[in-house]
Amino acid sequence: MIETQVNRHQRRVFKTLLIITALGGLVFFFINVNREQYVLASIELLAGAISLSLYLKAYRKLALTQFRKLTAVYVVIFYAIMFFALTREGVSNNIFIWVLVIPLLSYLLLGMKLGFMMTTGFMLGFVLLFGLIFQLPEHLHSLVAVFNMTFCFFLVWGLSHAYEKATETSHKKLRHLAITDHLTGLFNRSLLKASYESAQAESNEGKRKLSVVVLDLDCFKDINDNHGHDVGDWVLKEFAQILKELLEDPVYGFRMGGEEFCLICANMTLHEAARLAESIRSKVAEHEIDLNGVAVRVTVSIGVASGDSDTHSFKQLHAVADRRLYQAKNMGRNQVVFQG
Ligand code: GH3
Ligand code: MG
Ligand code: MG
Repeated sequence: MIETQVNRHQRRVFKTLLIITALGGLVFFFINVNREQYVLASIELLAGAISLSLYLKAYRKLALTQFRKLTAVYVVIFYAIMFFALTREGVSNNIFIWVLVIPLLSYLLLGMKLGFMMTTGFMLGFVLLFGLIFQLPEHLHSLVAVFNMTFCFFLVWGLSHAYEKATETSHKKLRHLAITDHLTGLFNRSLLKASYESAQAESNEGKRKLSVVVLDLDCFKDINDNHGHDVGDWVLKEFAQILKELLEDPVYGFRMGGEEFCLICANMTLHEAARLAESIRSKVAEHEIDLNGVAVRVTVSIGVASGDSDTHSFKQLHAVADRRLYQAKNMGRNQVVFQG
């Protein structure tokens, strides 16, 4: 899984939370010892110590999936301690103010989906606990007090949800912009390494080969020179459209720059990839681009290479495919080379 800006933001939130809960654990330990709430005091001291040790070493080194699990467990423990504290007799009247932190904490730490589920879970737990088993403290017995608390809770919940939704949407847009070639809509090369690793993992699972295809439009400079740069751009878009129509999962298509493109084909033998390359070549050669009455045709030369997913790097396969692409150019263009 690829680490995104959102996950980095969640790591920063978790770090802040660990510092505050480590300090809070210590302070509330002394407060509750003073009040002879020994069980609560011990739990708070233990929670503070765990937070401190996580802050000092563990959370930084964790891989993304482990980090996700840890934060989810952490939030559940936080809720459990809070429920325990809320239901204790003799704790401070204003301990209920902590309930307002729940939505904010859940959303910032776990994102929109899990944050929503956790907040809903907490709210249901709270209603069940105080509706059926425990009594609300006296200062919350009036209807106005309950309304105040309920509306404040939903306000924090609503704001947290709106904030997290806006953040996730803008991060998604930014990420899309960062990984997409704006002219053709294909991936740009920034995602090559991650895509190759993911294709390697997929191919390893099925113990199958992995192929790399390099494509370069023929005599493209002539199109620019004869028809203008805008027509050149249009041809690139049309070519990318043909690619998109022919590519199916698990093939990733990239614009490497200029009029050069690359495909990473997970689970594909040399012959399967060569067959795909041939279908692209023939479709492009047959395709006539009509530009206000001007018919433009383009052809493509293609090099294909294949290897074992666990031993061959992208660089190795790309170099072989690139060498074969130049053989195709030397042999007269508009052809696929997958041997030699
Ligand atoms: P070959 O068959 O040997 O590949 O010849 P070619 O003309 O395709 O290759 P060459 O490298 O000589 O020229 C590539 C041209 O592509 C030169 C450059 O101006 C043009 N080009 C690169 N990027 C773009 C782009 O984004 N839009 C347009 N319109 N042209 C571009
Ligand atoms: Mg070219
Ligand atoms: Mg080129």
